[in-house]
Amino acid sequence: MKANAHFRLLEENYLFSDIAKRVAAFTQAHPDRSIIRLGIGDVTQPLAPSVIAAMHRAVDEMGCADTFRGYGPEQGYAFLRHAIAEHDYRAHGIAMEEDAIFVSDGAKTDVGNFADILDTDNVVAITDPVYPVYLDSNRMAGRTIRFLPCSAQNGFVPCVPDFHADMIYLCSPNNPTGTAMTRAQLAQWVAYANEHHALLLFDSAYEAYITEADVPHSIFEIEGARTCAVEFRSFSKTAGFTGTRCAYAVVPKELIATNQDGSTVSLQALWLRRQCTKFNGVPYIIQRAAEAVYTPAGQKEIRAQIAYYQENARLIRQGLQQAGFTVYGGVNAPYIWMQCPGGDSWQFFQDLLEKTGVVGTPGAGFGAQGEGYFRLTAFGDREKTKEALSRIAKAF
Ligand code: PLP
Repeated sequence: MKANAHFRLLEENYLFSDIAKRVAAFTQAHPDRSIIRLGIGDVTQPLAPSVIAAMHRAVDEMGCADTFRGYGPEQGYAFLRHAIAEHDYRAHGIAMEEDAIFVSDGAKTDVGNFADILDTDNVVAITDPVYPVYLDSNRMAGRTIRFLPCSAQNGFVPCVPDFHADMIYLCSPNNPTGTAMTRAQLAQWVAYANEHHALLLFDSAYEAYITEADVPHSIFEIEGARTCAVEFRSFSKTAGFTGTRCAYAVVPKELIATNQDGSTVSLQALWLRRQCTKFNGVPYIIQRAAEAVYTPAGQKEIRAQIAYYQENARLIRQGLQQAGFTVYGGVNAPYIWMQCPGGDSWQFFQDLLEKTGVVGTPGAGFGAQGEGYFRLTAFGDREKTKEALSRIAKAF
């Protein structure tokens, strides 16, 4: 048999294994030095009590003949889609039908799979630096990719291009840069997409971290977005579900694609068709756990967790600035993007490790434009985060 030739075009993604190897070599050479990891974008606080209680109840239901559930609806149980529509949309003034909501096992899965329903001839625009899933999933499909450079000059926010693109991946608040797009900036993209009959694939996995009023939580806050955008959201960073797995995609019925013969087709219908063929839904227990996030107690608990990470972000931002570094992000996102002294992000990784024992992520790992920058995350323990900053202040 033959392999998908497009996989040969993928660059090996050694980023996190390279980091792990370098840290292992360092700890072997210096077993007495303590390491503080501010590199990985994973949460550290346990699931909220309301979430755990809902899971326990659902487990008991699964053990009883009267309440046992087998295969669930591919699109997600009505109770969860209803809670999402109500709390994440209607409560914020956005009317969103439950039919537009597709519960999944991750935003990574959704952003990686959504292009299944789009032609491989489409031109894709992707930011640089970028969350690598958008890039690699489109390389796997053999699409032409155009980059939208993000730098200090444009505040790490992608500008509307002067070329035509059919599919545009936007991530706000952004991983890795921690910056977020304002209402006016998103409105420009919505206008571009409607004009070009393009699709915005809007990843708002970090919307819970937004603090500024002019940063939309949803692309559907922008007029005209229903005819040009899909949105991906996740319980991972909002409620600590990185290991539990639950997310959702919103695909409005107004999204219409063109077939090769000029006829048209609804993207919502195609996505439903795709999901029904290739996906059997998220476990009942997990969907009940996600539903509990929306209860008053659940909201209080997860907001406290998010506030903890937000305060870490604030401390990192402030500590680095006081130490004389130029920093971006960290205000509407759990990521802080700092300029590396010397300009070489792998060299800075090594210097930081050797001088302070702090582990971060070199910006070069997120694309050519990431060179010269370094990502720190706010998902760590408070005391360790403070200790990291005090070591950095002394060492640089
Ligand atoms: N989108 C972005 C921008 C991310 O940074 C991540 C995880 O790091 C994801 C999606 C993945 O989310 P999930 O855990 O729901 O798959």
